[in-house]
Amino acid sequence: MQRAVILFGPPGSGKGTQGSLIAEKLNFYYLETSKLLEERFRDAKKGDYVEAEGKRYSFLKEKELWASGVLNSPPFVTVIAQVAVKELHRAKKSLLLSGSPRTVYEAKVLTPLLRRLYGKENIRIVMLELKEEETIKRNSQRRICELMRHPILSTKETASLTICPLDGSKLVRREGLDDPENIRTRLQQYAERTFPMLEYFESQGFKVQKVDAGRSVAEVYESIMKAITA
Ligand SMILES: [Zn+2]
Repeated sequence: MQRAVILFGPPGSGKGTQGSLIAEKLNFYYLETSKLLEERFRDAKKGDYVEAEGKRYSFLKEKELWASGVLNSPPFVTVIAQVAVKELHRAKKSLLLSGSPRTVYEAKVLTPLLRRLYGKENIRIVMLELKEEETIKRNSQRRICELMRHPILSTKETASLTICPLDGSKLVRREGLDDPENIRTRLQQYAERTFPMLEYFESQGFKVQKVDAGRSVAEVYESIMKAITA
């Protein structure tokens, strides 16, 4: 049976860390839109575009938005996510989506698609909750590894780490994305554009499981596993 899990939460809530742990444990495909976008942006050339709803979205313009902490144009991201979801479903994968959907617009397109492909009873939605001051603190201290870009959540357990526990490569800061100005923009974007998805999901009859993300990685992981295997 193929299943789908949607995981969302504010920047710094550990979506990336938890997403990869859970996907590995359950053998789900971990669809991380931010990574998809990052790859596409790296290769983007002048003139590359995506067509959505009769409009052209330039990759280079979207790359600028992304670099400033503003969310990408929902139709642009939605097209990219839709294509990936359809391909993965055809490949018989169960999915863990993190960072997508990220706007109500995107949720309104992706949720019915997932429902059609996977069936409502096979979809779980988890929202990670984190206090604003904790979000700011974690984001300003966040690091990733140089080799695989594994996210290292800033917690007291990871404070003294200097190399990636998985591959031994150096831990570095994400240039630009984790600057204070950028973090404030991303928090505001979350509150205005991502958080309202909660109401949308509930209006569609989904029970959104809320998990306190202000605890250790292991504790949060346990709670998410409980929520999605219940
Ligand atoms: Zn690593």
